[in-house]
Amino acid sequence: MGLRSGAAYLEGLRDGRSLYINGERVDDVTAHPAFQGVLATLAGLYDAQRDPEFADVLTVRDEASGETHSTTLLEARTHEDVLARLRCDRLRTELTYGMMGRLPDFMNAYLLDVASSLAHVGKHEEAARMGAYLARLRREDLAVTHTLVDPQSDRSTRDAPPEAVRIVERRADGIVIRGARLLSTLAPVADEVFVGPYVPRRPGQEDYALVCTLPLDAPGLKIVCRQAYDRGDGLFDTPLSGRFDEGDAILVFDDVFVPEDRVVVAGDLDAYNNVVRNAVGYGPLQGAARSTSKLKFLAGLATVAARTTGRAASPRYQEELGEVMGLLNVAEGLLDGAAVDLGRRIGERRDPGSAPCGPGCPTEESRVGIAALTFFFPHAIARAVEVLRLVTGSGAIAMTEGELRHPEIGHLVEEYVHGPGVGAERRLQVMRMVWDMTCSPFAARQALYERYYTGDPVVGRVLFFNAPKTREAEALAERLLSAAPGDPARVVPARPADRNA
Ligand SMILES: Cc1cc2nc3c(=O)[nH]c(=O)nc-3n(C[C@H](O)[C@H](O)[C@H](O)COP(=O)(O)OP(=O)(O)OC[C@H]3O[C@@H](n4cnc5c(N)ncnc54)[C@H](O)[C@@H]3O)c2cc1C
Repeated sequence: MGLRSGAAYLEGLRDGRSLYINGERVDDVTAHPAFQGVLATLAGLYDAQRDPEFADVLTVRDEASGETHSTTLLEARTHEDVLARLRCDRLRTELTYGMMGRLPDFMNAYLLDVASSLAHVGKHEEAARMGAYLARLRREDLAVTHTLVDPQSDRSTRDAPPEAVRIVERRADGIVIRGARLLSTLAPVADEVFVGPYVPRRPGQEDYALVCTLPLDAPGLKIVCRQAYDRGDGLFDTPLSGRFDEGDAILVFDDVFVPEDRVVVAGDLDAYNNVVRNAVGYGPLQGAARSTSKLKFLAGLATVAARTTGRAASPRYQEELGEVMGLLNVAEGLLDGAAVDLGRRIGERRDPGSAPCGPGCPTEESRVGIAALTFFFPHAIARAVEVLRLVTGSGAIAMTEGELRHPEIGHLVEEYVHGPGVGAERRLQVMRMVWDMTCSPFAARQALYERYYTGDPVVGRVLFFNAPKTREAEALAERLLSAAPGDPARVVPARPADRNA
């Protein structure tokens, strides 16, 4: 099948899926007004893969099969492959301004991580199933989403609530699953869903230890969407909600049959609990690229807005904007670091004796990408949005295109709603974009999403506390605590060669 066109992607969504939004059952998602903006954006990305201007970056030719597929599905074997992925992640997230956290790119990277993790912990059969699924995605160019988190029925316990999706029947040719998962971003407009792990399961919870893939039109699967933020108000008034409302849904599995070849894990706690823990880091690289593109867009929009109001001339606002530019510079360094990390880990898996070590080399594995996503980007992006608010002030409460074009008051808008050397139309266009980024329902959801982008932030922090690098840091402090007075050998850190002795 190979690379799909935008039209083929849209055609694939006319599959009779059970989708509910704004209180109604939707027969054809491609015809529903709530999804027109995001569908156009995603179809545009499919078309971009076939556009000579972008094809070199967005696609690669697989030497073995001779097929061309999305670079987002490239399994990196060399440093060059990692750089090819980085270029592709950057381009695709800049084409979508970092606004879509769950581009299909994210899941393609995540699934490569799942396969690498399962292979690393010796779950070869499960890894092979993921490998076969990835090969299918390369052939069919599908958009996949995911759903990991149990319903919030009772957060007093880490155990799965009875409402969580579980295996209710085992058959010779597959399993039947029942229950719900939240949330699944992109589900309304994706082709497939990956049902994966999040909270580790304990003995006795084997039926909840489930990893599988399904088409979103699987019989019994219900996609229950939140209200749409794209209200059809047009791209002048809602330039972001009108293009990038990727949708979030609760998925209800009402006795859904999962055929054997779609099941990755069904009851093996060891496999389930290790699905992503030992990943090489494709997902964090994509996530860091998306976040960097968003920060760049925010830095740019804040600067444009400050010029529109004249505030860019004032050192007071230049300082705020300069801080955002500084954060962008740090982000770009972190993104490069995530790529180096991915390359190093891939190299170490191929040749375990190849762990590089030189002066200053850490003894324990670094996790630059996921650390950046957990600790840096949520703050940097929130700060950039705050600066955007600051430089626009009340300007963000902008009237609509309707007033600008109104025969009775349009000329008054022209006369009174302008900036220094900036006409009313341009000023309103900028301010509507600022409004959509700071005040609209789309903006509020973006802010919540950045907070939960990598899952529960508390869990993320505790994982870092429990990682081996904590002991490396502790050992450094202990070295000085136990140093004898005047003993230079105990004060100066040991050289790397000594460390390995
Ligand atoms: C817009 C959006 C899109 C999403 N998209 C997806 C998706 O595509 N796929 C997917 O799988 N998931 C998605 N999620 C879900 C996301 O992974 C979860 O929101 C996240 O894992 C946190 O779970 P929760 O929302 O149930 O919060 P809870 O688990 O209820 O926790 C809420 C907050 O309370 C804190 N907390 C909980 N217990 C304690 C405690 N004992 N002590 C101190 N603090 C505590 C948590 O740390 C957290 O900050 C999305 C979420 C949002 C908001």
